[in-house]
Amino acid sequence: MFDGLISRFQLIRRKVLGYGRITSDELAVILKDIRVALLEGDVNYRLVKDFIQNIEERCARLELSKSLGPGDLVLKAVYEELVLMLGATPRKMIFKDHDRPAVSLLGLQGAGKTTTAVKLGVKYRGLKPLLVPADIKRPAAFEQLVSLGRSAGLDVYPLDRTDLIKTVKGAMDMAYDRGHKIIIIDTAGRLHVDEELIDELREINDAVKPVYRLLVADGMTGQDAVNQAAAFHDRTGLDGAILTKMDGDTRGGAALSIARIAKVPIFFLCTGEQLSGLEEFYPDRVAQRILGMGDIASLVQKIKMVEADIDQAKIRQKMTSGGLDLEDFLEQMKAVRKLGPLGKIAAMIPGVKESDVDENEMKKIEAMINSMTRSERQNPGIIDGSRKKRIAAGSGTTVQDINQLLKQFSYARDLMKKIGKGKIKGKMPFPGKF
Ligand code: GDP
Ligand code: MG
Repeated sequence: MFDGLISRFQLIRRKVLGYGRITSDELAVILKDIRVALLEGDVNYRLVKDFIQNIEERCARLELSKSLGPGDLVLKAVYEELVLMLGATPRKMIFKDHDRPAVSLLGLQGAGKTTTAVKLGVKYRGLKPLLVPADIKRPAAFEQLVSLGRSAGLDVYPLDRTDLIKTVKGAMDMAYDRGHKIIIIDTAGRLHVDEELIDELREINDAVKPVYRLLVADGMTGQDAVNQAAAFHDRTGLDGAILTKMDGDTRGGAALSIARIAKVPIFFLCTGEQLSGLEEFYPDRVAQRILGMGDIASLVQKIKMVEADIDQAKIRQKMTSGGLDLEDFLEQMKAVRKLGPLGKIAAMIPGVKESDVDENEMKKIEAMINSMTRSERQNPGIIDGSRKKRIAAGSGTTVQDINQLLKQFSYARDLMKKIGKGKIKGKMPFPGKF
């Protein structure tokens, strides 16, 4: 899947990371490469134009950073734009208990509706799905659904060739009676989007009010799939799309264009005829796949580090000017703890090893500072014996603990001041251990 795009972006990535400096000349080359890669990957040309323009604007605003090379920053911009292009947030089907939700699959003949209906049935097996053949004209369509459905151990609504609406309503009733929590309607396809088809789909929509109307489109048809999505969305309404046959040598452009051009989010990609070939669609993961998974994952990690570092820079400035107080100390600790498993995060801060951070110690310090009054935090010098007793009682610690905290704090403050004046070369110590 996306093989062509992946290999083109691999070359681009290498080139981008190889640049020591990225001036407007290098950027022009990079943008041209990206443009060609996307167009050759069959991405809609209007999208490509916007994409390039957005990257260009982002790059104009890039903040230089010591920890990230210029290539990293450009790649980050490309990654973020790709995620946006793919629809930004993943979509999931959510079924509430209290209704009998219908999912209707629609699309042209041969797109993969019947196969996908059964794949979805397998995926949502826990909801005891009922598969409904809504192609009353072709007996073969019914037989296909029955044989695929049965082989997967799923229930299929019996064929009723007289009336389509009677069929889907009957299926809703049967679902209710027999405790099927969802029904999956496999509608009849056509070779083209024609009036008869649109009317039929509208009638189904009116009769069962599907919670999800999903277009099943053949990903191999590229921009045609995008046009179908726009046409159906316009005329019958769509909640999302499923792109099939993404396992073939598809260029992937449909997947990249459909969310923005047709304004139809992708729910799933199908990657094979076998019933397990159904993947949830995550814009960020697909973008990572296209750009080279491992590299992007580690870049995102690195960027998190740098962002933590930027926050640190503000407080560091205060620290090195000697103006650090216990309030800052607490603020900083809270900020760091919010980020996640402490050791891992702390280890991203230059100069701190994972083993430097003791979670319990941090909690104790936080409790002690929380038990201080505001003026005590801002001016620890006023904390005398009786105040220490009060703080220790309030925080469930001992006077000895308070003494130690104050000692560490004043040591840190003096050290910071010296580092700030350039007297000592060093890195910022991390609260919790000095
Ligand atoms: P329908 O006419 O829309 O119901 O399409 P079908 O479900 O009958 O599928 C048409 C053909 O495409 C069948 O031969 C399927 O096996 C095949 N097919 C469906 N989904 C995929 C897929 O994700 N990958 C591949 N390679 N083939 C698929
Ligand atoms: Mg079919």
